[in-house]
Amino acid sequence: MISINRNNKGILVEAKGKRVMKSSLYSKDNIFEISRSKFNDFLLCKRCFYLDRVLGVKVPDMPGWTLNSTVDELLKKEFDICRKNQVPHRIMIQSNLINIVPFDHPEMDKWRDALRGGIKYKYRDTNIIIKGGVDDVWFNVDTEELIIVDYKSQASFSKVTTEDYLSNVFHESYKIQMDIYSFLFKMNGFKVSDISYFYVANCRKDLKGFNSKLVFDEILVPYKPRTHWIEDKIDEMIDVLNSKKLPPFNPFCQNCACSKARAEYE
Ligand code: SF4
Repeated sequence: MISINRNNKGILVEAKGKRVMKSSLYSKDNIFEISRSKFNDFLLCKRCFYLDRVLGVKVPDMPGWTLNSTVDELLKKEFDICRKNQVPHRIMIQSNLINIVPFDHPEMDKWRDALRGGIKYKYRDTNIIIKGGVDDVWFNVDTEELIIVDYKSQASFSKVTTEDYLSNVFHESYKIQMDIYSFLFKMNGFKVSDISYFYVANCRKDLKGFNSKLVFDEILVPYKPRTHWIEDKIDEMIDVLNSKKLPPFNPFCQNCACSKARAEYE
């Protein structure tokens, strides 16, 4: 993808390919925050993670997913009304989850702010803080457990089923995301349900036309988060951060393959 560098006024700015903010770079002497998405980068390719967090090589920005984030924003508004009134949302009623309401907590807005806040956990006696911005948290009034929820919007011809959704290889990172959020809430002392939900808004592609609107089906996909693997991977990530050696690249990555192919001609 061609990514042209502009500032927030749309003016072209020479791309340097390097991070300028010192706080973005790892130092073993300072507290360092790792977001859920950077941790996922580490899981995908240690080399890219190291180049970014330790050496300051900036990966190209991605364009915003405006339709997806609009669905998220509108859902947030709906759930906040239910949160204020402590009543179940329509998807909970449709799914026969009438003992569940959106969780009302003073930190809710902070937990949902992936850029400036998120839920955080300082990992053992290290200088590493793991953090992540959740879409929503619900509350089971019977068991007093928190339920982690992630909104996902997509488009397909066929109806979404739990089995297909969870077995889709492209949804592996979604499950990892849910695992990490569950881990973070648990480590913050909350009682967390062993069931979380993907709130899937599936835009219907089988309709005859657009007619100025997109039509969505909604389904809750239950998922059992697994948190047992996370601490070993955080330990591995810290070893990589403290290493002086550039880790190997991921041989399945199209970006590296593209860079190598280009280097043959430049
Ligand atoms: S293989 Fe190369 S481009 Fe791809 S993620 Fe790793 S370092 Fe980055």
